[in-house]
Amino acid sequence: MAPHRVVVIGSGFGGLFGTQALRRRDDVEITLVAKTSHHLFQPLLYQVATGILSEGGISPSTREILARQKNARVILGTVTAIDLGAKTVTSEVLGRETVTPFDTLLVAAGAGQSYFGNDQFAEYAPGMKSIDDALELRGRIFGAFEWAELATAPAERDRYLTFVVVGAGPTGVEMAGQIAELAHRTLRRDFRSIDPRQARIVLIDAAPQVLPSFGDRLGGSARDRLTKMGVEVELGTKVVGVDSTGIDIEKSDGTPARIEAMTKVWAAGVQGSELGAMLADQSDAELDRAGRVRVNPDLTLPGRPDVYVIGDMASLDNLPGVAQVAIQGARYAAKHLMARLDGKPAPPSFSYFDKGSMATISRFSAVASVGKLRFSGFLAWVLWLAIHIVYLIGFKQRITTLLHWTVSFIGRGRSERTVTAQQILARNIIRTMDPKDLPKLPVVESDHVTPTPAPTSTTRASASAPGEPASDEGGHSAT
Ligand SMILES: Cc1cc2nc3c(=O)[nH]c(=O)nc-3n(C[C@H](O)[C@H](O)[C@H](O)COP(=O)(O)OP(=O)(O)OC[C@H]3O[C@@H](n4cnc5c(N)ncnc54)[C@H](O)[C@@H]3O)c2cc1C
Repeated sequence: MAPHRVVVIGSGFGGLFGTQALRRRDDVEITLVAKTSHHLFQPLLYQVATGILSEGGISPSTREILARQKNARVILGTVTAIDLGAKTVTSEVLGRETVTPFDTLLVAAGAGQSYFGNDQFAEYAPGMKSIDDALELRGRIFGAFEWAELATAPAERDRYLTFVVVGAGPTGVEMAGQIAELAHRTLRRDFRSIDPRQARIVLIDAAPQVLPSFGDRLGGSARDRLTKMGVEVELGTKVVGVDSTGIDIEKSDGTPARIEAMTKVWAAGVQGSELGAMLADQSDAELDRAGRVRVNPDLTLPGRPDVYVIGDMASLDNLPGVAQVAIQGARYAAKHLMARLDGKPAPPSFSYFDKGSMATISRFSAVASVGKLRFSGFLAWVLWLAIHIVYLIGFKQRITTLLHWTVSFIGRGRSERTVTAQQILARNIIRTMDPKDLPKLPVVESDHVTPTPAPTSTTRASASAPGEPASDEGGHSAT
């Protein structure tokens, strides 16, 4: 019997754990399509941005993780179309299109940054969702100290030494805490014209509390700790403008103000993947306010028992956008599918088991909420350390992370301070380029071959000159 073809979109927590949960099924053939060739451990992105970890340390190759899983193959590409009628997924990389048919689809494309309708802020206030984002922020943060060293006027120097983090959730708190540690510990002795300890770090949120999801007590202790570290915490404050040299705010009483700051970090708001709208257009599903797909209690798309939507891009019972929701959802969807293939009754509706949440503030200080327990300080930090090592994927990654943490937390140094021009400039340059100037894979006529029998994907170069046929439909199958 022909194997059941499962296409998985995304190599994050949802996509990877869903693929792995189907590893014992010889009757299933999985194709994982993702726009990056790595799995990304997003919770440690802020450590890449602040020079503690290297990008490779938190982003092992998906292909390598799945190398031994014989029923899975990995293809690189950004999904540009999902056709629920034809049951195909189209992906594209540098002008090469690949069409992959499916019997069952598992969509785990995550979420992006939301600027609440002010996408123009992104030019000056990068978010933190990808390795590119984290490296750009690393360049901007370390670069700001370099520029401050060169500044000739006090106002210019102060602008370079002011860092604004927008969003007082876990990512914003972690970023603000780490920039404070950089200024007060790591860079303390490295400059001659400036004193990095003079840096001003401002954490802004429209909400009245730091870490709202952790409750009043832990939010309060995180705020106290940040204040002790010299971070200015501005709550009940809305950002109304962002430009190259500063940020405009409106305080809770409506008073406008401006903070002159060269470095802005956006850690507020998420927006479900754009693939959600594509699915909603072709099914009975609706999107919630954050653009996430409202799914059935069994994580299927309304009206489509053959399509599962999981993780950050799914909306069900107000579940939070955290790794455990994606991992448990992925395992549930795999179990649900296996029951269907075996003709067994479906498992009961998906129910999430909350294992707790944690956020670090600085070295030796974190907050943790586990079941009814709430604690902060050193014990919470040790727990945070242990859990992150357990969930980091790859033995190499665990060893190198432990080494880097020893250097940064016991010592004063940061091993990953390298910054390149690409890191700081590339995103904005690519964004302003005309799409026709973006690089494409070359079309070489002699590459057209007769397809091997029954390819699971067909590829074609979409870079053909206008009027010229693209390389034919039955191109060679992608690997
Ligand atoms: C900075 C940061 C810190 C975080 N800290 C924590 C934490 O401490 N604890 C916690 O539990 N959670 C944390 N989270 C949240 C957690 O990382 C997410 O909930 C989790 O990654 C969601 O998994 P997912 O599989 O749904 O999406 P993701 O992990 O985001 O994966 C999405 C995948 O889809 C791919 N993709 C997207 N669009 C396309 C497309 N069009 N075509 C092809 N591929 C596509 C992406 O490349 C990626 O591989 C954090 C998130 C961030 C950004």
